[in-house]
Amino acid sequence: MKNLLILGAGTAGTMMANQLRSKLKKDQWQITIVDQNKTHYYQPGFLFLPFDIYTEDQVKKVGKKFIPNGVNYVQKKIDRIFPEENKVKLEDETINYDILIIATGSKIAPEEVEGMKGKNWHKNVFDFYTYEGALALRNKLRDWQGGKMVVHLTEMPIKCPVAPLEFAFLADSYFKEKGMRDKVELTYVTPLSGAFTKEKSAETLGYLLEEKKINLEIDFAIESVDNENNKIIDYGGKEVEYDLLVTIPTNMGDDVIERSGMGDDLNFVPTDHHTLQSKDHENVFVIGDATDVPASKAGSVAHFQSETLTDNILLYKDGKPLKEEFDGHANCFIETGDNKALLIDFNYKQEPVEGTFPFSVIGPLKLLKESVFNHWGKLAFRWIYWNMLLKGIPIPFVGRNMSTKGKKL
Ligand SMILES: Cc1cc2nc3c(=O)[nH]c(=O)nc-3n(C[C@H](O)[C@H](O)[C@H](O)COP(=O)(O)OP(=O)(O)OC[C@H]3O[C@@H](n4cnc5c(N)ncnc54)[C@H](O)[C@@H]3O)c2cc1C
Repeated sequence: MKNLLILGAGTAGTMMANQLRSKLKKDQWQITIVDQNKTHYYQPGFLFLPFDIYTEDQVKKVGKKFIPNGVNYVQKKIDRIFPEENKVKLEDETINYDILIIATGSKIAPEEVEGMKGKNWHKNVFDFYTYEGALALRNKLRDWQGGKMVVHLTEMPIKCPVAPLEFAFLADSYFKEKGMRDKVELTYVTPLSGAFTKEKSAETLGYLLEEKKINLEIDFAIESVDNENNKIIDYGGKEVEYDLLVTIPTNMGDDVIERSGMGDDLNFVPTDHHTLQSKDHENVFVIGDATDVPASKAGSVAHFQSETLTDNILLYKDGKPLKEEFDGHANCFIETGDNKALLIDFNYKQEPVEGTFPFSVIGPLKLLKESVFNHWGKLAFRWIYWNMLLKGIPIPFVGRNMSTKGKKL
């Protein structure tokens, strides 16, 4: 019997367990998946929790429910990987493997910036990238009387790179609905030279910030958070004052990657961009946010990767050459507030452009243009996530590689 071990039962690990169990013979391959958490969180829902659009129950479920029969589920913390010895140490046991899949994701590291996780953490300095952070922010916003709200991005890469902008747009809409928009000064602070990383979408998104009267502060490389005077300070001495700071701290791979000596400076694992094989160990594969590939860190990306990786694991076990197939395909809805959203579809080489998706002319979704239909697409993604994506069920009409159909290139 051979062992395939999956580290992390988040979006990517759960999809891999589902896809591989039906393809690897049960009398030849044992599959084990390990995660420290009992709960599986729908992280895209963390954007909606602070605005009371989703409830707690809509963003979390028991993780084991999504692991297929015939996969051994271990709920423990992973201590260290020994890739030279093909084994992984958990809190109190060691598991050997023939093939390893690392799917340990990424997490926020507010301690990387001086003062960020200081005495005001979750009092007037919040994140919404964790369940606890999003809930604490929701409770704060319910009674907040207004003032200066700063939405801040520390550095790239972060998971779901559009989420901070979406937060700013939704905040505008939330305060308008509460009849207190005139009491809130909204500012978006970013280390980038525009509203977003991709040039064409930066134009559209920058325009939307202007339209919604959200100030934009660019090229801001944060040095510290001053908790006494409620301001953030950058290395050049620029300062931005806040009453309520909503920050996206540095995102890093899990500490287990650092302890195992397998990561870069941010604990992301060097990974072949197209095969998803580890660059250092041929029987180790990496998927989702844990990789260092220059694709977006998003559930949709993990989904496209899972299809290529499933094929490559089957090829690898048979000693055949791997498919150099993954093209960096990402597909993201961007909430723009007032019940509208944009959609972007891109890959390593092609930046987001206007057009229709998934079909030419008829769409029905619009690329880089706001529409109510796109907003419903974003909300429908939650159902698709729990019922299709995690279970490894292919999403109709959306291929693993980016299609040029409908795109105005
Ligand atoms: C606010 C927000 C909004 C988002 N919006 C979108 C969106 O609209 N669309 C989209 O496609 N994506 C979105 N994402 C991103 C998406 O959620 C992630 O990219 C996706 O979950 C990555 O999957 P993953 O399996 O790589 O990591 P995760 O799903 O984070 O899973 C990693 C798992 O590894 C486990 N783990 C890590 N280290 C250890 C250890 N040492 N021991 C045991 N277990 C460990 C963790 O407990 C976790 O369960 C959003 C994310 C956030 C935070």
